[in-house]
Amino acid sequence: MKQINSYIDSLFYTKDDLLEEVISSIQENGMPSISVSPSSGKLLTMLISISGAKNVLEIGALGGYSGICLARGFGSEGQLTSLELQEEYAKLAYRNLSKAGFGDQVSYMTGAALQSLEKLAHDNKKFDFFFIDADKDNYENYLQYCIKLAEPGALIVMDNVLARGSVADPDAEPKRHTAFMKAFNETVAKHPQLESMLIPIGDGLTLSKVIDQTHE
Ligand code: SAM
Repeated sequence: MKQINSYIDSLFYTKDDLLEEVISSIQENGMPSISVSPSSGKLLTMLISISGAKNVLEIGALGGYSGICLARGFGSEGQLTSLELQEEYAKLAYRNLSKAGFGDQVSYMTGAALQSLEKLAHDNKKFDFFFIDADKDNYENYLQYCIKLAEPGALIVMDNVLARGSVADPDAEPKRHTAFMKAFNETVAKHPQLESMLIPIGDGLTLSKVIDQTHE
């Protein structure tokens, strides 16, 4: 996987000073280096721009790397709502989004994402694009909320679905994380309200389109 990703990055990723500064700011603040891969970020930008999505919900902000990629996709006309557990992370993400020119188009809800999602559902908010990239244990719950909050035809993108390739490796050490992600991928693949495909870049991104709003 590493080799394939390096090959893809070497061909399709162009040097991006702003995103490199974001990565440095994450390191300088002692935060984990777990932003999306450069190519995954570029794909997020393209998906938003191709789909014309303007109202985006991100679950898991860290330092704002993917947030900038998402916002670049909608340019001057969209809005990003981002859910982040850690107040300090959300503050850094906001500073980085502001540097990128999107300070007026992003809002952060801090605390456990499930609580923020419940509030968004209660307020009847709707979104046309979702990016799930937070604690894996809650992926199923996040997915159900995203479907609830989705405009018809909305796109949902989920990161880390390959669990470093372990989901497809019959000899992989039996780890809870792998079993968990395998079960999640099966749920997504068979979900009656979703049309989905797994894209093996970065740590694996699944792209789902919400196809049936009425089916519960
Ligand atoms: N999407 C970011 C990017 O690519 O720039 C990376 C996100 S990082 C992989 C996961 C983030 O989810 C971390 O910032 C972490 O604090 C946050 N997180 C973990 N558990 C959470 C929870 N229960 N609610 C909200 N955010 C959570």
